[in-house]
Amino acid sequence: MTKEKQTKPVAVITGGSRGIGRAVAIALAQQGWNICFSYATNLAAAQETTACIEAAGGRAVAVKADMAKREDIKHLFEATQQAFGRLDALVNNAGIVGEPRSILEADDAHLTEVFRINVLGSFFCVSEAARLMSTQRGGQGGSIVNMSSAAARHGGMPDEAHYAASKGAIDSFTFALAKELAPHGIRVNAVRPGLINTEIHEAHGGQALVNRIGPTVPIGRAGTAEEVAQTVAFLCGPLSSYVHGALVDVTGGR
Ligand code: NAP
Repeated sequence: MTKEKQTKPVAVITGGSRGIGRAVAIALAQQGWNICFSYATNLAAAQETTACIEAAGGRAVAVKADMAKREDIKHLFEATQQAFGRLDALVNNAGIVGEPRSILEADDAHLTEVFRINVLGSFFCVSEAARLMSTQRGGQGGSIVNMSSAAARHGGMPDEAHYAASKGAIDSFTFALAKELAPHGIRVNAVRPGLINTEIHEAHGGQALVNRIGPTVPIGRAGTAEEVAQTVAFLCGPLSSYVHGALVDVTGGR
């Protein structure tokens, strides 16, 4: 194991290849972290993110891992251990909106897909990460940041009850984890972004929707992935040592 492997903190970021996850990876790399991130399908984006992390001074490992699959999640954490031999933070970021669908047309497969990725995937990632970081199991403690959404409190866009409810589950999960994992030396918080200009909005109107809603946000515009990333990086690191069980809105006031 190299000296760098022993001294630099390491973060796992799920869905780190694009959007908010990529911005978090770059922000943490700039602050001296090494990064293991997952992506679902887009290899070119993952390669671009790897180059960005390295340009920011970090080492990067990209792992193709579907957060809807338990085996893929196990593989993500095994790859992290193999590459870096330690884990200091988990950013549970991967998520989808899912196709807009009225509750009058509720569909099993549709709901299952959204909840598998947004909720169950987050549960299994925490399970893997907590085992590695727990001070009761020989770990050094650490920080978990769950990616929720302002939709958890305002209900989200039309016909997206599935998405809002999946993020509500993440808020409750965060409160419960803060109690359960504190004795293991692990802090747990959630970030709730508002309207952030990323490709996730392709599911329901894309850039046209962002342009239409942006001016209605109190601050007058949509946010950037980088603006969310700064808050996530703060919650991962030692400057937030007494922030625990918090839901931090990054919403421009919406
Ligand atoms: P994005 O631009 O669509 O990026 C999504 C990322 O997640 C990509 O790296 C994608 O990988 C990955 N991903 C998607 N499905 C996956 C799966 N099954 N397994 C593993 N990785 C998967 O999304 P974003 O806007 O950055 O959103 C990131 C998080 O912030 C999500 O949890 C979202 O709900 C939350 N959020 C976003 C906003 C917003 O306005 N943007 C607001 C509130 C909350 P590939 O590149 O391989 O597809």
